[in-house]
Amino acid sequence: MSDFCPVLWPEEPTPEHLLDCSECGLDQHGSRMVWGEGNPLGRIMIILDNPGAREDREGSPMVCGTRQTLQQAAVQVGLTMEDLYVTFILKRKPVKAYDKQQVRQICMTHLKQQLKEKQPKLIFCLGNVAVQSFFENTDAEVKVLRGKIYDVNGYPTAVGYHPLAVRRRPNLWNMFVEDWKFLTGYYNNKI
Ligand code: SF4
Repeated sequence: MSDFCPVLWPEEPTPEHLLDCSECGLDQHGSRMVWGEGNPLGRIMIILDNPGAREDREGSPMVCGTRQTLQQAAVQVGLTMEDLYVTFILKRKPVKAYDKQQVRQICMTHLKQQLKEKQPKLIFCLGNVAVQSFFENTDAEVKVLRGKIYDVNGYPTAVGYHPLAVRRRPNLWNMFVEDWKFLTGYYNNKI
């Protein structure tokens, strides 16, 4: 039986000047900003669509299902939090309808700034929303692109399924782990 036990990775604070960012309008949705998690100096940057809650309704820390599944795969392929920094296309979780394309475009300017500052060695984009936004291609799909390294704006980038999709469709688990193994193989051999 696995002794895997998910933990809440430390949160990288939102830069002071962006604490009250309202550029895209998602501040009106009431969800709080999460800038990034894990090791801010991690050499692999994981990009998800948007952050899940880090607190339950009572305000106690919680590890959501997305984070649990992501960590489980990382452990399975021998990666630790030291290797990994997780961030998001949108730094706030949308909770009602919004102009997806416009909002993503606006918040991507912050991701581009993070990339400039952090210079990750490898990027792992999880889920179609993150892939389409990061590749700037609305037709991009994980199931077509997985298993290869792409140069996206000068960054070696791999793609994989979204952990939440894997929770909803457990038959994706093996392919999800394959994606992580592919990532780790490249990381160990080329970086
Ligand atoms: S999601 Fe991005 S652009 Fe929108 S308020 Fe948050 S940091 Fe600003």
